[in-house]
Amino acid sequence: MNVQEVQFRNRVPFSLDRSSFRQRAACVAEVAAMEAEAVDSEARFPQNAIDAARKERLLGAQIPTAFGGDGASISDITDMCYALGRACSSTAMIFAMHQTKVSCLVRHGVGSGYHEMLMRRVAAEQLLLASSTTEGQNGGNIRVSSAAVERGGTEISLVRDATVISYGAEADGIVTIARRADDAAGSDQVLLAITRDDYTLEPTLAWETLGMRGTCSAGFKLNFKGVAEQIFPEAYERIHAQTMTPVAHLCWSSVWAGIAAASVERAQLFIRKAARGSGGQMPPGAAHFTAAKMTLTKLRAIITATLDSYAAHEHDERALSSLDFQSSINLLKVEASELAVETVMSAMRACGLSGYRNDGDFTVGRQLRDVLSAPLMINNDRILTNIATASLMSGVPTSLRD
Ligand SMILES: Cc1cc2nc3c(=O)[nH]c(=O)nc-3n(C[C@H](O)[C@H](O)[C@H](O)COP(=O)(O)OP(=O)(O)OC[C@H]3O[C@@H](n4cnc5c(N)ncnc54)[C@H](O)[C@@H]3O)c2cc1C
Repeated sequence: MNVQEVQFRNRVPFSLDRSSFRQRAACVAEVAAMEAEAVDSEARFPQNAIDAARKERLLGAQIPTAFGGDGASISDITDMCYALGRACSSTAMIFAMHQTKVSCLVRHGVGSGYHEMLMRRVAAEQLLLASSTTEGQNGGNIRVSSAAVERGGTEISLVRDATVISYGAEADGIVTIARRADDAAGSDQVLLAITRDDYTLEPTLAWETLGMRGTCSAGFKLNFKGVAEQIFPEAYERIHAQTMTPVAHLCWSSVWAGIAAASVERAQLFIRKAARGSGGQMPPGAAHFTAAKMTLTKLRAIITATLDSYAAHEHDERALSSLDFQSSINLLKVEASELAVETVMSAMRACGLSGYRNDGDFTVGRQLRDVLSAPLMINNDRILTNIATASLMSGVPTSLRD
């Protein structure tokens, strides 16, 4: 089967019932919500939720039907991220990161024997894939790598100081960037997909953080030995622009919108209860509830608009590489993260002390701590600085729908 046939089957699955995705995600969300507090307080991996995702076969949902998956679209996946975000931020972020890695396989692995085999394994064995982009002291500057792939005939190896690998200890595989070769520039990068039997992880940094505690995003020394076919055939530069950034930003934003929605739901319950208790009189915090609903609406609108734009061009390399699309997909991350924080803050102010408490029905403490990671995950300042030149070059729109 050629690439076009696989893409066609992926887009128009003949027997796919899309409504089942919602039901299956709802089952996982129910399990995730039950263990969310323990996952947060103990900073532990949400094992029950991920087991439930495996049981519902959601880890392979995006894999084309030809390789044993369900051929879920980016819209289906982001819906799942939103539903999980409402239940447990860490579960949702783990799911979002896994799906971003799977999308690299789906969009850039067809035609490569190793990557096709891995897609089949993800679908059949429900493998969980982690991500390694952050390295050494390089922060969120993921378009420059330090560690290089070493080559000896068909065998390759990589040793990487991975500052953060979320759920590294629990994952079945890792998708990692690296410098192409010892004599290559830092920006000449490749992407590799590796599985448990090919690597070891030596813990270097623990994960004792304010929020997103269940992602268990510890630091590791990654030591890998494998074969050259594990390197994706396309240069990372193209995978980054066409898939890694768009899918990561859409999935992360959907998670943050889910977290924001959970806080709005609590604020709504609080305001309703307060109004009932005072004979229908709105409490003073009601204005903050309205503000929270307003920013949540904006947040959902910007995600769905960018989602539509990505879905319309997802197989059009030129459109995806355009300055306009690249700016908008980067700005989505910045705007969505800021709006999500703003929404949860407004929800907290609507609930007052009941929201600030760490216990009770109206607490939004966990959501606030979790959502504060959003502007830092590939720092917004870094993104804004990076796209300053591109923003200067693109024209000011002459109409509303340009
Ligand atoms: C919950 C969570 C999970 C994560 N999971 C993973 C994972 O699984 N795998 C992985 O590889 N990484 C992961 N990361 C790391 C993430 O991808 C970023 O690399 C990391 O958040 C950046 O860290 P930093 O703030 O230390 O570095 P930087 O991005 O360097 O930021 C540090 C400071 O420097 C400033 N700064 C840096 N560069 C610039 C610039 N050019 N212009 C303006 N200001 C700048 C920033 O504003 C910031 O104040 C995770 C992060 C979080 C929060």
